[in-house]
Amino acid sequence: MKESLSKIKKEILSCKKCPLWKKRKNAVPGEGPKNAKIMFIGEAPGKNEDATGRPFVGRAGKFLNYLLEKNGIKRKNVFITSVLKCVTNKPNFKFIEICKEYTFRQIEAINPKKIVLLGNFAIRTFLGKKIKVSQIHGKIIKYENRILIPTFHPAAGMRFKKIGKLMEEDFKKI
Ligand code: SF4
Repeated sequence: MKESLSKIKKEILSCKKCPLWKKRKNAVPGEGPKNAKIMFIGEAPGKNEDATGRPFVGRAGKFLNYLLEKNGIKRKNVFITSVLKCVTNKPNFKFIEICKEYTFRQIEAINPKKIVLLGNFAIRTFLGKKIKVSQIHGKIIKYENRILIPTFHPAAGMRFKKIGKLMEEDFKKI
């Protein structure tokens, strides 16, 4: 039987498996329907996400919302999370290795058809540590019985016009 999303959420909210728990106000498990067809995976919660317990609610989140709307995707219909569930501005693979099981369990529970990987940390968690987003963004990659669509992190898309434009093209493939 499939594990429930709420069980995974409960574990994340009280998790102390890596040192990042010490600085969090709220763990950020992610949000969206339990049977979402599309999942978006970023790197880690920031200040606004930590304060609210919700993913992508700061400035990068606004840019993500813009890209979703532009492509006719309703945010309420997709599941949004990150490979680290506790706040940090310095994500590292030591902690991602510990935390990533939650994201993989969420994927199993939700069973999305498409997974959009936002930025290098998410991409490398799935596809290997040497891969760069600039080499692979916008490609459609078969992954078990789903597809992965790697692209840049919305924070980069928001800051750099050129990257924002590349993201607009990548999002058309979702
Ligand atoms: S970042 Fe992940 S592994 Fe570390 S304490 Fe938070 S939920 Fe647990």
